[in-house]
Amino acid sequence: MSIAIILFRNDLRLADNPALHHAISHGKKILPVFIYEDHFDSGNEANFERLGAATKLWLHYSLKSLSESISEYGSKLLVLKGNQRVVLNALIDKFENSISSVYWNRRYEPHHIKLDTELKEFLTYKADGNAEIEARGQLKDGTVAGRTSSRLRRTNDRSVLSVHEDHEDDENAEIEAPRQLKDGTVAGRTSSRLRRTNDRSVLRVHEDQEDDENAEIEAPRQYLEVKSFGGNLLIEPWELLNKQSKPYQVYTPFSKQYFHLFEGSMADRIRPLEYKLSADNFLSKEDISKIIENAGNGVELQSLESLCSIEDLNLRDRGEENKNTKNIIPEQYHPWVDKMTKYIKAGETKAREALDEFIQTNSALSYGEKRNSPFLKGTSQLSTNLHFGEISVRQVYAAVNNLDSGKEISENKAAIGAVDFPLSKAKKYDYLKQLIWREFAHYLMYHFPHTVNQPLREEFKYFNWRKLDDIQAGSENQNANKLTAHQMLKKWQQGETGYPIVDAGMKELWETGWMHNRVRMIAASFLVKDLRIHWIEGAKWFWDTLFDADLANNTMGWQWVAGSGADAAPYFRIFNPTTQSERFDPDGIYIKRWVKSLGGCSSKDIHAPFIAGALRLMKLGENYPYPVVDHDIERKVALDEFKKLRK
Ligand SMILES: Cc1cc2nc3c(=O)[nH]c(=O)nc-3n(C[C@H](O)[C@H](O)[C@H](O)COP(=O)(O)OP(=O)(O)OC[C@H]3O[C@@H](n4cnc5c(N)ncnc54)[C@H](O)[C@@H]3O)c2cc1C
Repeated sequence: MSIAIILFRNDLRLADNPALHHAISHGKKILPVFIYEDHFDSGNEANFERLGAATKLWLHYSLKSLSESISEYGSKLLVLKGNQRVVLNALIDKFENSISSVYWNRRYEPHHIKLDTELKEFLTYKADGNAEIEARGQLKDGTVAGRTSSRLRRTNDRSVLSVHEDHEDDENAEIEAPRQLKDGTVAGRTSSRLRRTNDRSVLRVHEDQEDDENAEIEAPRQYLEVKSFGGNLLIEPWELLNKQSKPYQVYTPFSKQYFHLFEGSMADRIRPLEYKLSADNFLSKEDISKIIENAGNGVELQSLESLCSIEDLNLRDRGEENKNTKNIIPEQYHPWVDKMTKYIKAGETKAREALDEFIQTNSALSYGEKRNSPFLKGTSQLSTNLHFGEISVRQVYAAVNNLDSGKEISENKAAIGAVDFPLSKAKKYDYLKQLIWREFAHYLMYHFPHTVNQPLREEFKYFNWRKLDDIQAGSENQNANKLTAHQMLKKWQQGETGYPIVDAGMKELWETGWMHNRVRMIAASFLVKDLRIHWIEGAKWFWDTLFDADLANNTMGWQWVAGSGADAAPYFRIFNPTTQSERFDPDGIYIKRWVKSLGGCSSKDIHAPFIAGALRLMKLGENYPYPVVDHDIERKVALDEFKKLRK
């Protein structure tokens, strides 16, 4: 029996799962594994390695759902805890050579690339004491022939040269490896340009982390086949470069290229994989238990200590452990967790239902008209399902793209770079373009990994952000003068800024773990431009409170608002929270839903209750807070500060 471990990560689904598909199409018995990795709790905060509190909560239900689906096939999701190399090593030993393959779908966060590169290396290559690179492979240009199977040792400078296998469709794409080795020979980031090999292997360079300095690469088993697949994006980030052979930094040409490829050479990328699963495809629950419980094989198992149930992960009790949330509601048991749980629709079945509803109610075609109205359910609300991979981006893309195209001619055709587009096709593209924003975010994170916590535009390093501990002087607003920036941040987090649309958004987030995109932009802009608090503070808060917290999308969203990212909003574009509110929530329906104390305000007054009209209706400061700053003043200050950067 040939067993393949399928490592589930942010692909918690059985359908359209390339790693799983590969296993069954090669006649393997699947051993499904989820590893709760050490860094999920203790990873570097600054790099967003630790999972956010809301993420953990959703993960609990998503894992339960996946586990139930797997048990319908008579099998079992093994949940392990620890360092993935250590626990997998122990697990594979436990199975005494009957595991022939380990497959997974790729992750793109910088720390995950590093960990998965190490894992692949660890499982695949045997350390032999020589810093030898034995290439049995061939690059396309013929200089090195055949399948790459380099054997590598970690170098002193802690850089690891590793091999990534690409999937089948990629064979003609060009590769640019954007990183540099740390040592003197290839200083800084590697910018070697590589061509994809015939066998579709890609040679790339990853930097190792300092704490791994002494780690041994004890390695493993030559018989083990280790493969990763592209299952979370439509096109892998290294497959696409602009005409100058550089990574795209502007969305429009990037997305045009996507649509162009889908109309032609990459048409298959938007077709979900079709396969049927049966109990025969899985290792049975009984077989798994027998092997796991058999302690007589002499293998001292850390792995069995690491084996746990989903309940043991305690993901639902994370609210009170979280530094940020603790600051707001310091109870021992966190009511936030109960409240948030009501909004969870986790798992593959629920994700599929949400997508079907979006399609059947015609919401996909009315998306363009409704997407900016936070008081409507005008968007798909699939972001969390997509983040956890409960549904694949390809399934969502295909479902919308396959909608009947209709016959009308689009007025929108210029915007999508197409000729004579049928109207409903253009309408579909309103939505599909959002999925490409998601791709763009991952693309940027891959090519510019430092941007998860640093500005892409260098000059923004010098922006004069408010220091969190300073008492704010200088603003003419009397209330602002009494607060530290830290207190302002708190007010923003709690939805107590005195700007109703911002407060409604922040309360929606706290209540439900999700916030409408338009309001995300307004609330984020308020933090960055009105309060002049570093975007990273906002990104951290979102990281902990959003169910869909996603390093790529969150980073791009914040850098876009701050003006420091690729294709970002220009620095002088400062959202006015009042006019945004009047425009996108004209009757204040959304505001009233989340800010109950403003329930009595008229549509006219509700956008700025601090202006005279509303004072008649409510006691400002008691029912609803004074504005934390004066937008008009802060706008000018922010503009002055931004202008300094341009000098
Ligand atoms: C400051 C800020 C932070 C954000 N943080 C996140 C985050 O952590 N996780 C996250 O998934 N999105 C984030 N977004 C993007 C966007 O707000 C959400 O993806 C969207 O609101 C999710 O709702 P939906 O599923 O109904 O999206 P829809 O409008 O139905 O769009 C469909 C899908 O396209 C993708 N998408 C849509 N808009 C964007 C976008 N601007 N950037 C990237 N992908 C997009 C999402 O996967 C989404 O589910 C952020 C935006 C901003 C301005």
